[in-house]
Amino acid sequence: MTALFGGIEAGGTKFVCAVGTGPEDIRQQTRFPTTSPDETLNQALDFFHRAIRQHGALAGLGIVSFGPVDPDPASPGFGCITTTPKPGWAYTDFAPRFQQALGVPVGFDTDVNGAALGEASWGAARGLHTFIYLTIGTGIGGGGMVGGHRMHGLIHPEMGHIRIPHDWDEDPFPGSCPFHGDCLEGLASGPAIEKRWGQAAKDLPAEHPAWELEARYLGLALSNFICTLSPQKIILGGGVMEQAQLFPRIRQQIQRLLNDYVSSAMLQDRIDEFVVPPALGNRAGVLGALALAQQSANGDRENRAS
Ligand code: ADP
Ligand code: ZN
Repeated sequence: MTALFGGIEAGGTKFVCAVGTGPEDIRQQTRFPTTSPDETLNQALDFFHRAIRQHGALAGLGIVSFGPVDPDPASPGFGCITTTPKPGWAYTDFAPRFQQALGVPVGFDTDVNGAALGEASWGAARGLHTFIYLTIGTGIGGGGMVGGHRMHGLIHPEMGHIRIPHDWDEDPFPGSCPFHGDCLEGLASGPAIEKRWGQAAKDLPAEHPAWELEARYLGLALSNFICTLSPQKIILGGGVMEQAQLFPRIRQQIQRLLNDYVSSAMLQDRIDEFVVPPALGNRAGVLGALALAQQSANGDRENRAS
């Protein structure tokens, strides 16, 4: 019998939970709003208890979460959310609760490393060893893989909080990040767009100047990431990237900024294949959680509670 896995994509606004083995085999799935930690985590636990009764035991669970989180298995805080400004959620013990309640190996990582793993397993990053997955939504987060390993270091990357040039004459908006003001997230997240223009991002028409400015900020960030990491591909997800007209504009900005210095067809003729949306769409995160569960069950201790 094929081993079954559980996955949780924990977002600041919603949770998605699934049981299955991969994109073609989801046995059961649910989504619900993120409320208090106790209510939300119990709701997720109930889902898995019911799914186990119906479909049989799970061989492992993967959790990919909004952050910041502690993804280091050697740390006492492993598997917990840490300094999030989200009310009530700072220092929530997440993976340990599920490990205790379900008694299976639990893998834990950031939402973006999770989505990156989903894309590496079944999507746009198959066959790649070094790539970036960035979400541009309520916040901006970045993860991915370097040399085939999900990105971790001291903690995990915070690509949304880099500083980029901000021309205050052209864009007097001070930025919306509670920690940094005009970092990338402060200038280019969904809420930043809404505050700057006084209108929800999804209601701004395609020809609105908001999108050229957005593409400029994202182009600056991405060209910095290209120079730092030399990714083989950059995958852009999240609500703001529903604006498909951003893709060609961002590609143009990258080419303008790099000015042919980095010599690869992927940055010239093939740039349409280099900056892409997730092939798994909005399922990348929860599918990545399933892939992480599989890795944990197979004894990969890189991000596993035991
Ligand atoms: P979250 O970041 O909470 O996981 P999303 O990735 O959907 O969720 O991001 C939500 C943000 O994306 C909101 O700030 C919203 O303004 C913005 N957004 C959602 N849909 C669109 C759209 N079609 N066009 C532009 N912005 C959007
Ligand atoms: Zn910031």
